[in-house]
Amino acid sequence: AAWEKQVRNSAAPRRSRGMSVLVTGAAGFVGTHCSLALKKRGDGVVGLDNFNSYYDPSLKRDRQGLLARHEIFVVDGDINDGPLLVKLFDVAAFTHVLHLAAQAGVRYAMKNPQSYVASNIAGLVNLFEVAGKLVNPQPAIVWASSSSVYGLNTENPFSEADRTDQPASLYAATKKAGEEIAHTYNHIYGLSITGLRFFTVYGPWGRPDMAYFSFTKDILNGKPITVFQGQDGVEVARDFTFVDDVVKGCLGALDTAERSTGSGGKKRGPAQLRVYNLGNTSPVPVTRLVSILEGLLGVKAKKNVVKMPRNGDVPFTHANVTLAAHDFGYRPTTDLSAGLRKFVKWYVGYYGIKAPAKAGGSKQ
Ligand code: NAD
Repeated sequence: AAWEKQVRNSAAPRRSRGMSVLVTGAAGFVGTHCSLALKKRGDGVVGLDNFNSYYDPSLKRDRQGLLARHEIFVVDGDINDGPLLVKLFDVAAFTHVLHLAAQAGVRYAMKNPQSYVASNIAGLVNLFEVAGKLVNPQPAIVWASSSSVYGLNTENPFSEADRTDQPASLYAATKKAGEEIAHTYNHIYGLSITGLRFFTVYGPWGRPDMAYFSFTKDILNGKPITVFQGQDGVEVARDFTFVDDVVKGCLGALDTAERSTGSGGKKRGPAQLRVYNLGNTSPVPVTRLVSILEGLLGVKAKKNVVKMPRNGDVPFTHANVTLAAHDFGYRPTTDLSAGLRKFVKWYVGYYGIKAPAKAGGSKQ
């Protein structure tokens, strides 16, 4: 009963006609930022996270602590737990689900392929089953797909209609599968589903497995970093997107997501099925990422430059965001130097590192 009360309180919006959002993966990087932004504008938020140890779980617990200080309750649980999901919807009639729980990361799929199938396919299906069949009225679902679905696509920039039939990693394949599964649940159960293809999101409270994060750590520790060079002389580049921009995109997608009455309701409206790129529209070579970090940290990196192995990575990503701009005013505003400055400031504060040259201490 205490648990139910916490869920109900946390789910209650504080503004009139506010939404009540279940955020899966809330103790994750993007989930934490989105939960805070929703709460700040008066929406109700309940988180769900299994706190797995893909990367340092204490970082996830600290994010949970941050959310708790903002009166956001995060339930310890798995998206594969059907009865738990049913119970959550029973206690709090969520209007929306922001589904961010997933096995992220491209290279880890070579070590633990089944974790991708479990969270990104079975878990997604479980969520769609509950939301599509068992909850009435249905919630609108917004979920994180990935720029990795473009795989070895060579169109530049990537638009939503480009081919996505050449995944370069199992991670990409599971996200692509998720998009197909979304089609099915929209078609049969009238579930309203919006997929967001995030492009390399970075920022404070970020993921230790990502390059900008591990480079920062290694550069500060004087350890060599490995920088990949593309095959055929193509420079490896990413459309690095600052987390605050992605958060605005997620909220815009939630705001324009229309709930449908689904197959159980009185009238069965044509439910939405949408996919959007959320990127920065300006790819930056990884070598440039390194030199920005060197500047911010005041330390030269020891670079090991090697040809990119076939480990799931793609040579470049570049988003066209015209569709998201048109439909919900998405406009990224943070360039890589400004965003990394905020990341480094958080990093040195969080890990208690003596302020390096240009980042910590001083005001922004
Ligand atoms: P993250 O790993 O920090 O967050 C995911 C969270 O989900 C974690 O806290 C994890 O504990 C939780 N989780 C994983 N499996 C779960 C399960 N079965 N049940 C309950 N909780 C589970 O990753 P992130 O960077 O915040 O990514 C959020 C979403 O965005 C993911 O779907 C990811 O695939 C997608 N995405 C991220 C990026 C990026 O650059 N960060 C790029 C493209 C797509």
